[in-house]
Formats: sequence, C-alpha cells, structure tokens
Amino acid sequence: MVKAKAFLLDMDGVLYHGDNVLPGARDFVKRIQAYPHCFVTNNPMRTPAAIAQRLQQLGFPNVDASSIITSAMATRLWLQQQASPCCYYAVGGEALQHELEKIGSQDAEQADFVVVGEGYGLDFDSLTTGINLILNGAQLVGTNPDACVNYVHKGKPMVLPGGGALLAPFAVATGVTPVIIGKPEPLLFQLALQQLQMQAQDCVMIGDRPDTDIHGAAQLGIQTALVRTGQFAAGERYPEALLTPTWDVLDLASLAEQIF
Ligand SMILES: [Mg+2]
Repeated sequence: MVKAKAFLLDMDGVLYHGDNVLPGARDFVKRIQAYPHCFVTNNPMRTPAAIAQRLQQLGFPNVDASSIITSAMATRLWLQQQASPCCYYAVGGEALQHELEKIGSQDAEQADFVVVGEGYGLDFDSLTTGINLILNGAQLVGTNPDACVNYVHKGKPMVLPGGGALLAPFAVATGVTPVIIGKPEPLLFQLALQQLQMQAQDCVMIGDRPDTDIHGAAQLGIQTALVRTGQFAAGERYPEALLTPTWDVLDLASLAEQIF
C-alpha cells in the first residue's frame, strides 16, 4: 500500500449527512490542509462557492471554493474538449447553466449536445425539445448517473430524483446511450487529478458509495477509502462485483488513525 500524498473527498455521507457533521470530519478536513486535496461531487446543482459556504456553516472553515469540483464543471470541460465554442441545449439548474455559458451558447433548435443535469428544468416541453434535437443528431450528455438523491426538507428525510433518473426519459425516447460525466465514470476523477497535478496511485479517494466513489476511482488506479457513514452502513457486506477499497472504515475518525 502506497501512503497517500493527496486526497479526493466526496462530501455527502463523508463529511456530513443532512445537517449532521459526521464523526472526525472537521478534524480530518483540518489535517488534509497540509496535503493537495479537493472535494468532488456528482451534484451539479450548487456552485463551488455555494458549497464552500455551506461547508463553512457546518464548521469547516478552511474549505475554499477553488478546491471543489462538481459534475457541472467536469461536464463543461468535456464539452469544451468536443467543440469550442459549443452549441448546446441544457436541461438543468442554474449552476449547470452558469458553467455552460462559459463555453458556448444555448440553442433549442440547432444544438449539437443535449445536456441533462440533476435538478430543475425537466418538463414536457424541455423533454420534447431534447428528444427532437437528439433524433436530429445531437449527442446526449448526463452530468451524473445517480438514480436518486437523499435530501432533508424541514427536518424530514426525502428522496429527490437523481441525474440518472432525469436522463432516462431522453434515453428511453430516443434509444441512444448517453455520455455520462460524473462518478463512477472517469471524467470527474481525471479532472481532480489534473487540478491537483498528481498521479492516480499517490491519491486516495474517500467516499461512502462502493458503486460510484470506490469502484470508479479504483478503476483509474486511485487508492480508495470507504467510510460507512452514508449510503453504506457498518456491517453491510461489500458488493462482490465491485473493486474493493484500500481502506474500509467506520468513519473519518477511524481513517485518520490509519492513514496519517
Ligand atoms: Mg456521498
């Protein structure tokens, strides 16, 4: 096992769950300030600045917006590599629209890419527009593949549709296979490695989901740490079909004891 020289962290289920900060999380974030690090999220709905602000409210004072990478940012980068300037039709929230405005323009009639992001925007009209653009040759792109998202509304746990669920009607109606940007696909991780200027084997990805955080990062040769504070509970059996984590621990407090 190579010791970690840099850290990639998922946030929900790792640092916090709803409004609760998870055991050892504040201390862990303090300790990684001495290393190259970034926070990677499949959630394209919030800007890095908004995420940093929320983390600060939760008692993580050292998190800078520049250390946060969202699937909306990775989607923007991917599109930029395909065509610059890029002509797209985006169905998704403000943060995604804001990212894409940096690299091109929205065109509901001649777009080369239909981008579907987690969040608001999907309705009968936007679905119809997207379907017809795809049938006329536009490529279908999804910010992230998550089926659903855990959410707390007025103290009550709720489930919201994830990026994968919102992407599905476009794929079903057209029969095309989308390009997907977020975890477990490689693009978000590759963008993080690029930003940190680190080799995969020198980094550790810390996440709470075996299927996205762990399997996706391990496929690229990144070391991985599973914390059982989110999606995957302590005692649950690790899925056999997935690559196993380098560290499999209860929470960030236990990981800190083993990794530093
Ligand atoms: Mg998570």
